[in-house]
Amino acid sequence: MKKRTQLVHGGTKRSQWGELSEAIFLTQGFAYDSAEQAEGRFIDCGPDEYIYARYGNPTVRMFEERIALLEGAEDGFATASGMAAVNGALVSMLKAGDHVVSARALFGSCLYILETILPRFGVEVTFVDGADLEQWRAAVRPDTRAVFFESMSNPTLELVDIAGVAQIAHAQGALVLVDNVFSTPVYSDAIAQGADVVIYSATKHIDGQGRVLGGVILGTRDFIRKTVEPYMKHTGGSMSPFTAWVLLKGIETIDLRVRAQTESALQIATALDGRPGVTRVIYPGLQGHPQHALMLRQMGKGGTMLAIDLDGGKAAAFRFLNALEVILISNNLGDAKSIATHPATTTHQRLAPELRASLGITEGLIRLSVGIEDPEDLVADVLGALAAV
Ligand SMILES: *Cc1c(COP(=O)(O)O)cnc(C)c1O
Repeated sequence: MKKRTQLVHGGTKRSQWGELSEAIFLTQGFAYDSAEQAEGRFIDCGPDEYIYARYGNPTVRMFEERIALLEGAEDGFATASGMAAVNGALVSMLKAGDHVVSARALFGSCLYILETILPRFGVEVTFVDGADLEQWRAAVRPDTRAVFFESMSNPTLELVDIAGVAQIAHAQGALVLVDNVFSTPVYSDAIAQGADVVIYSATKHIDGQGRVLGGVILGTRDFIRKTVEPYMKHTGGSMSPFTAWVLLKGIETIDLRVRAQTESALQIATALDGRPGVTRVIYPGLQGHPQHALMLRQMGKGGTMLAIDLDGGKAAAFRFLNALEVILISNNLGDAKSIATHPATTTHQRLAPELRASLGITEGLIRLSVGIEDPEDLVADVLGALAAV
């Protein structure tokens, strides 16, 4: 079946009632027909057999199978949040003495895991500029166990060349772990491009309607069942069945939503590009973007996020935000509702000013997560706010 069909039907398991919409199995435990059956399940738990919701649950399993089909991965493990997925993927496979190479431009909580938590347990982490393949080549060593990066960075939308980094990492036997949130599963071909493990915060485009926290780790059946599952099921970061049900509904419409959001993002970027007062429009879908060719090769489309840099720093950025009438001020992304963020004072406030500057996060930078509203309203909103600046 083609992707759009799988998004609606993939992974569905119907009970004896034949319910049309996926059932929420809001149960912690499962009753066995006999003591022998209970014993057997603890010896070898089959794919459609369950013991306890921290280990697995039918609704969660439907979500895992559907998102694995969308990504083209053999298997997946659903987690309580995107950060439980990032932490679970890394910690389940690493041990003291291992070496990891990571891109420096990371979501704040990802940076905390790589910079603060992993070194506390004896894992050495080297940070590189993710867009510079030469830096990856210089940093990856024979004892490097894993490389980690966000395929499109937050908030400056810099792409990391998945195939290029994978070639370098695989030559030394290191696994490639990709946080693929900004690229979205709709525009991802990460596994074919060389990623071994793909991680999503399902909180973003997979829910797409701002309701639940969730995450997923995708990879080979061996990696998911033998490395990730034992760690996740014993440490407690598993997804709730209710969350899985909400996300199953989200996946049904993700392709329609993300493609519409991407069309609108291009319209907004085009409308703002070159306007007085806007020093920079960062959108990989614009032909003038320095990584436009890489974006076409890796994703095919520019995605749902863009950033603009306003002349006039923080004061201009705040005037812009406060003049918006449709687009909401928030720090989330991937929602059906359009959202504007001022990274320097919110999501990236804790970074040292020099690091913020080196990452291109200026005082005038605004990140836009484009929603599914009418694009004409969105363009009018940003142009109106720019006039107020
Ligand atoms: C939001 C986000 C996360 C964390 O996801 P949560 O669901 O909030 O835990 C990780 N990486 C990236 C790139 C994100 O945008």
